Amino acid sequence: MGLIVQKFGGTSVGGAEKIVNVAERAIEEKNQGNDIVIVVSAMGKTTDQLVSLAADITSNPSKREMDMLLTTGEQVTIALLTMALQQKGYDAVSFTGWQAGIQTEPIHSNARIKNISTEKIKKNLADGKIVVVAGFQGTSESGEITTLGRGGSDTTAVALAAALQADKCDIYTDVTGVFTTDPRYVKKARKLLNVSYDEMLELANLGAGVLHPRAVEFAKNYQMPLEVRSSTERERGTIIEEEISMEENLIVRGVAFEDQITRVTVVGLPGSLTSLSTIFTTLAQNSINVDIIIQSTTQAEKANISFSIKSEDLKETLNVLEAHKQDLQYDRIESESGLAKVSIVGSGMISNPGVAASMFKVLADNKVEVKMVSTSEIKVSTVIEDSRMVEAVEAIHTAFDLAGTPVTA
Ligand code: ASP
Ligand code: MG
Repeated sequence: MGLIVQKFGGTSVGGAEKIVNVAERAIEEKNQGNDIVIVVSAMGKTTDQLVSLAADITSNPSKREMDMLLTTGEQVTIALLTMALQQKGYDAVSFTGWQAGIQTEPIHSNARIKNISTEKIKKNLADGKIVVVAGFQGTSESGEITTLGRGGSDTTAVALAAALQADKCDIYTDVTGVFTTDPRYVKKARKLLNVSYDEMLELANLGAGVLHPRAVEFAKNYQMPLEVRSSTERERGTIIEEEISMEENLIVRGVAFEDQITRVTVVGLPGSLTSLSTIFTTLAQNSINVDIIIQSTTQAEKANISFSIKSEDLKETLNVLEAHKQDLQYDRIESESGLAKVSIVGSGMISNPGVAASMFKVLADNKVEVKMVSTSEIKVSTVIEDSRMVEAVEAIHTAFDLAGTPVTA
């Protein structure tokens, strides 16, 4: 007996039949004597459809109204799922983020959770009810409706699990767990039984869409074990926790990748101590997210700085740089789109030198040019041509022995 938080993503609640299936999964755990809190996303592609509906009206919707609009998606699901539970004879109640006591920063479209008042949920659990909460939403102190950023329902679930001191948090999705790489692209990708918080954080940030990075951050901070598992298959999923078993003693645990990357080079910056800070402060003030940064000095007095961004931010980046040409004093800007980022992640790298070297060798043997590199203790990222991305991922995946018969424990 315990308290379980279950989260079901958009595909898992994509229609009436699927919602009934979710109710059944929850009831199974309830019948084991557990208290159940369910967090759900909007049905199927609802959020995307709402975004495009807004785009049909204006190219520049206010963030407040976008939050007002998008939060309706989750509200549909909580009501329907609660009806499904009631129809099966179970006492259940649905809550919006506000009703569930989820308080966020006063920021629209990408707010962080600041506090959760759990009294109401606890009271309803004590009354024997299954509590169904809308993911991805909260309210600011002044009562404004906010959202947690795309994919944010994962974060709602983990934050609730932490606040309620749940025994576990199960993230139900349309895949059976976290894979060594994306199985839609690489057939030999294999499900991992265990991943550490730090590895998962890197993987989530490097483009593995299976979990919202902030959800992993929360789980790590509160040492909340997560299991990513399928809402339709019965097999064991991937467990994400601090100390992972040595059963799969892999130096590299996964290969993550992401396309639509652009490299921007600012050529001929004055070689002063402040150039670097001025340029990145300017970009940050304009909310442009910069990833890999490389500085090189070509001539005695001048420096070139390259950085990577998401291609969708290129126009804005060029506008910002152009607008600040006076202060930045560079000669010109160059940019190259059509790039991709391919990364390897694994905590075993800390104690095994030469992992980056092996990755570069695989790329060189396959005649893939590496345009940028960045490393941390447990990851190596490379920027390469987009057109070689899948091929490179496959080669690296094989070279690090990740391919295998899918594990179905
Ligand atoms: N419905 C939101 C989205 O599509 C939040 C979520 O599903 O996690 O991004
Ligand atoms: Mg998601």
